[in-house]
Amino acid sequence: QKFKDGLSKTRDSFSERVNDLVSRYRKVDEEFFEELEEILIGADVGVSTVMDLIDELKDEVKRKNIQDPQEVQAVISEKLIDIYESGEEQLAGLNMQQDSLTVVLFVGVNGVGKTTTIGKIAHKFKSEGKNVLMAAGDTFRAGAIEQLEVWGERVGVDVIKQSAGSDPAAVMYDAIQSAKARKADILLCDTAGRLQNKVNLMKELEKVKRVIEREVPGAPHEVLLVLDATTGQNALSQAKIFSEATNVTGIVLTKLDGTAKGGIVLAIRNELNLPVKFVGLGEKMDDLQPFDTEQYIYGLFA
Ligand code: GDP
Repeated sequence: QKFKDGLSKTRDSFSERVNDLVSRYRKVDEEFFEELEEILIGADVGVSTVMDLIDELKDEVKRKNIQDPQEVQAVISEKLIDIYESGEEQLAGLNMQQDSLTVVLFVGVNGVGKTTTIGKIAHKFKSEGKNVLMAAGDTFRAGAIEQLEVWGERVGVDVIKQSAGSDPAAVMYDAIQSAKARKADILLCDTAGRLQNKVNLMKELEKVKRVIEREVPGAPHEVLLVLDATTGQNALSQAKIFSEATNVTGIVLTKLDGTAKGGIVLAIRNELNLPVKFVGLGEKMDDLQPFDTEQYIYGLFA
């Protein structure tokens, strides 16, 4: 239900426009497809994804000899699901280690909701009875450490930190030693997100990752890129930059509740072949949901 409510803005605008389109046309022709294309691009599905989709729709319409625009709607959802699921096999949840420490690194630009997401995920695992620890690896942004601590108190999870301005790699080292000593199940690591100095930021991420790799064989088990759905195609370019610099394993898409352009999920999937693992649907600790493709796509038309 939460998932459904969170998508209401996207659903309302998208389904309204598609319904309007379908009711105005008597038959499925070139003009119909052109309008549909505009609607999809307007929902941030992404130009190349839309092109693929329209081509496939046209094929299907021809193959099944569909004349009635009403019937196209069902084909659209089928094709959207195909697009989403056509990537390589991906784990729906996180790659959790059974009997040893799981390390999850969070990357992303300032303001996208990284700290909030870490807090929400800490809450989720804590509620499942896991021993959770957080690492305050954003030593650069003023207030970042305190903000993570506020979340720590809120959800009852400790934060390993050093003073502002200290070396994030040293924070990670400390955090890993603490996690081992406390036999933690999962360590959630914050990182800095100042994109203004891209080269330094990427170097810093590299260094942090090297420490994690050295201290915990096989880690980081997930590198989650946090993206803000309301930034639309900007999120896509951020994703490209981060994927080039580090081995991103999945996306957390935040603020999906605040946008009518939830189609960005499909663009991310089709253009970057990265799975959306979780979506943020509000500011509170429970406002995080695992991403469910079918629910999402059928939800667009519900
Ligand atoms: P950071 O700089 O990436 O760590 O971003 P923050 O975690 O500080 O979040 C920035 C703002 O976005 C805060 O006001 C959060 O409450 C808000 N925020 C984060 N996630 C969501 C979400 O899923 N939905 C909404 N509506 N707001 C969110």
